[in-house]
Amino acid sequence: MTQIQAWAASGPTQKLELIAVDSGELGAEEVEIIVEYCGICHSDLSMLNNEWGLSSYPLVAGHEAVGHIGAIGSAVKGLHIGQRVGVGWHSASCMHCQPCISGQHNLCSQVLPTIAGGHHGGFAEKMRAHWLWVIPLPEQLDISSAGPLLCAGVTVFTPLLNLNIKPTDHVGVVGIGGLGHLALKFAHAWGCEVTAFTTSASKIEEAQGFGAHHVISGYDSASVMQAANALDLLLITVNRPLDWALLLKTLKANGRMHVVGVVPEPMPIPAIELIFGQKSVSGSPTGSPSALATMLEFAARHRIAPQVEHFPMHRVNEALAYLAAGKARYRIVLDADF
Ligand SMILES: [Zn+2]
Ligand SMILES: [Zn+2]
Repeated sequence: MTQIQAWAASGPTQKLELIAVDSGELGAEEVEIIVEYCGICHSDLSMLNNEWGLSSYPLVAGHEAVGHIGAIGSAVKGLHIGQRVGVGWHSASCMHCQPCISGQHNLCSQVLPTIAGGHHGGFAEKMRAHWLWVIPLPEQLDISSAGPLLCAGVTVFTPLLNLNIKPTDHVGVVGIGGLGHLALKFAHAWGCEVTAFTTSASKIEEAQGFGAHHVISGYDSASVMQAANALDLLLITVNRPLDWALLLKTLKANGRMHVVGVVPEPMPIPAIELIFGQKSVSGSPTGSPSALATMLEFAARHRIAPQVEHFPMHRVNEALAYLAAGKARYRIVLDADF
């Protein structure tokens, strides 16, 4: 039996409290990570408040955790004690279904979200995951800001990787927050022409600094139509309803609108916008272990790091309120201080 100190919520909208979690024996295929830093994602807020009906309490959130390996199970492969690693939205998958054996473990029907099903996340002294989901951090990456790459980063990187986005393509990014600012950096480094869409005047200059060649301020018709027929890919990182029919008009023929923000309401999509111009609408969940490793290598090579603000982990409640108020520029990282 191992006691792990963790910041946990006892129910929806409850403040997090420091508790001791009995984590039991380390499984043969499990890795235990001594958490040094953990990013906060909007999904942590959604899970803490049980907005998706998936939460079980006490809930230890945190799925952008980085640190060093403290212990490994007897069947762990390719990792060693002391190694710098990170864990993102998923912590385990079945390893024998078709998505798993074809390398798309993030599409496994039994994939385990790090902070669901009673599994404890990274707002803790230590956390555990199946070895395949524990991703080594390249030496060149600064560990204090690397955490958000593991969820926000891979979520916006995977579409570039899997949708055959070319350097000659023009990519639009809707919403310049935790995901969107990384999407601008990745799309720019990928070689694309990049357009940012934001309603926040204060983010225009920063969006340019992140790699946007053009910034469109506002989602009204006159603003959006500045990019009419311009984009090959429009990446939606916001989690609120917008005028989707209008946004589809920014796509070139064969263009795609790709959703990675959890928009709660159904999205009305007019068939005529899909038919003329042969456009499509799609979505994707975070990324596979292979995509995570590829994304980290790409980030290291291009010196891509999330722009973060740090809070000590004991101030996690304050940090969550800061995120909920929309103040984070652009991702909060908690520094473990147990
Ligand atoms: Zn996340
Ligand atoms: Zn599977």
